[in-house]
Amino acid sequence: MARLQLLGTQAYPRNGEPVHLRLVDGDDHLLVDCGPNIVETFDALERPLTSVTDLFVTHSHADHALGVPYFLLGHFLTRAGAVADEPGEAVPPLTIRGPESALEAVDACLEAVTPGFDALAADASWTLEPTEPDDGFDVGDVSVTSLPADHVVPTQGLLFDGERRIAYTGDTTRSKALVDAVDRADVVIHESMYLESEADLARELKHGTAREAGRFAADVGADELYLVHVSDQYGDEHRVRFLEEAGEAFNGEVILPDRFDELSV
Ligand SMILES: [Zn+2]
Ligand SMILES: [Zn+2]
Repeated sequence: MARLQLLGTQAYPRNGEPVHLRLVDGDDHLLVDCGPNIVETFDALERPLTSVTDLFVTHSHADHALGVPYFLLGHFLTRAGAVADEPGEAVPPLTIRGPESALEAVDACLEAVTPGFDALAADASWTLEPTEPDDGFDVGDVSVTSLPADHVVPTQGLLFDGERRIAYTGDTTRSKALVDAVDRADVVIHESMYLESEADLARELKHGTAREAGRFAADVGADELYLVHVSDQYGDEHRVRFLEEAGEAFNGEVILPDRFDELSV
């Protein structure tokens, strides 16, 4: 059965890794966003970076995309035999998807952080495929569909259809289009950067609150709600408040996950 694993849960890398996740089904391995410590993260997972066959960049903000240059550098150096556990090991092709502006940011980031990398990239095997909302691709037996998030830059969430239907919103404010696109889900992984006391700031920055996450989960008929992308300003003493505010709008189970928690898909 396919597994979805949270590799980070936060909005800023001080109390933990920013939210990014992966979907694994057999040899197919999708990474959704790329945390700044992606190399150490994959060491902790005891998997090579090159086991990733698909990368999806939800949008171009640093907390989601800053690990991409190191991810690609690791990918290239492995192919070159420089960091491979077994030099010469086969490396699967890599497809990188996301909104066009996110893929442009990936290119710009590479130019800024790894000058000369373009020449190396000519030997690499990744391809860029810009996505629009409602575009689909498969990861093992799981159908993956991009979702129209509503954020300050073009952003797409993802819907995973396997034995369960799981929606990951990406960074987003309250959006009817996003609710309509998901339609129905068993599990929702929703950003909840703020509590209701910061609702005005959340709207200004086009982020979500715990209560909005609860309302979203109720709207799509979910049984479980995972709250991620929690702002750095909140400590452990606020955990109960996040659960309570989400629960004011949603009767199902509300979870503040830990890094490396897994869900079956
Ligand atoms: Zn963002
Ligand atoms: Zn973010």
